[in-house]
Amino acid sequence: MAENIKVAIAGARGKMGSEAVNMVLNTPHFKLVASIDHKYGGMTLAEIDGQPDVGVPIYEDIDTCFLETKPDVLIDLTAPAFGRKHMEAAFNHGVRPVVGTTGFTDDDIIALRTRAEQTGLGAIIAPNFAVGAILMMKFAQMAAKYLPDVEIIEKHHDNKLDAPSGTAIKTAQLIQEVRLSKSQGHPEEKEELQGARGATLDGMHIHSLRLPGLVAHQEVIFGGVGQTLTIKHDSLHRSSFMPGIQLAVETVMTIDTLVYGLENIIE
Ligand code: NAP
Repeated sequence: MAENIKVAIAGARGKMGSEAVNMVLNTPHFKLVASIDHKYGGMTLAEIDGQPDVGVPIYEDIDTCFLETKPDVLIDLTAPAFGRKHMEAAFNHGVRPVVGTTGFTDDDIIALRTRAEQTGLGAIIAPNFAVGAILMMKFAQMAAKYLPDVEIIEKHHDNKLDAPSGTAIKTAQLIQEVRLSKSQGHPEEKEELQGARGATLDGMHIHSLRLPGLVAHQEVIFGGVGQTLTIKHDSLHRSSFMPGIQLAVETVMTIDTLVYGLENIIE
């Protein structure tokens, strides 16, 4: 295992970022060297309400941050537009990105993988760092071989920017790999209200709920003759994502390409 990995966090004040700050501070072989924020540049985390009492510097300019603090790894937990820019900056400075920010497109992933391979730097993007969610996706893929009619309901807190969730899209893509393409529901069904049947990916309907009080939840519901099967995962607290992020920080030091999805590093 790599020793003393120097970590910078973008989005450290956020709901996920503050959990990641605690995880890094409590992991003996990690060292938190910087916070990248769009506010509070020049201050330290200790000077910000609700942040831990540590003298970790905050930077608004990511290039200056990387030049001055020389992190090994960037953890990004911000928003897609910033996540992409932060990854580019990381590749330019020899920093390995671990990205939990969701909302990347397939084209983004292709371009970022090319960049990782050009620079020889490892990078990990995972739309869901909870191990239970990875198992839910794998079990759903197994079930779809036998029960190909499936709909997905994902539920998140109402501050989430992207819909459907990266996890729901990934689940549908995994199912798409094992079942024949099909359109579901009655061939003549008609939406009385636009969007009533949700989004579709290869005929699978995906429904997104956004409510206060929720964290991250998903049900994958299969229907067969005289039976249904529901595979359900709930992240009840954002701490559920931290063992996966810790593993990704350790793993990204040992790879030289971009890996998309936690499932590709836990096997
Ligand atoms: P959040 O609470 O809104 O946190 C985002 C943080 O990023 C905020 O502190 C925000 O500051 C900050 N920020 C915005 N622009 C920035 C910039 N240019 N540079 C640096 N920091 C910036 O959101 P969250 O719930 O923590 O989620 C963050 C991301 O993680 C989202 O994309 C979410 O979908 C994703 N997520 C991933 C997983 C996973 O397992 N992969 C799990 C949960 C969530 P302001 O508040 O001042 O704007």
